[in-house]
Amino acid sequence: MREDGVFIGVEVDDSASGDPELARKLEEACPVDIYAAGEAGVRIVPENLDECVLCGLCLDASPPGTVKVIKLYDGDSLLQPAA
Ligand code: SF4
Repeated sequence: MREDGVFIGVEVDDSASGDPELARKLEEACPVDIYAAGEAGVRIVPENLDECVLCGLCLDASPPGTVKVIKLYDGDSLLQPAA
């Protein structure tokens, strides 16, 4: 699933988006509530996307490559996980 704001897009791989445990982790990790956990897994909250502070906590909370934060304002470059 992917949602785009004006400046930021977020993509969660289909293999992970239905995982309620991952959904809870993402909901907890993001300081600006871009992820909402539900019974069916994670939902991206479109109205909060442009609040992203590029902290990378969602990348740390998810299996490598399953969550992408896309910088639409910067040629669609991807936010990189902390080394
Ligand atoms: S980088 Fe930080 S603010 Fe942006 S979506 Fe991930 S957890 Fe939320």
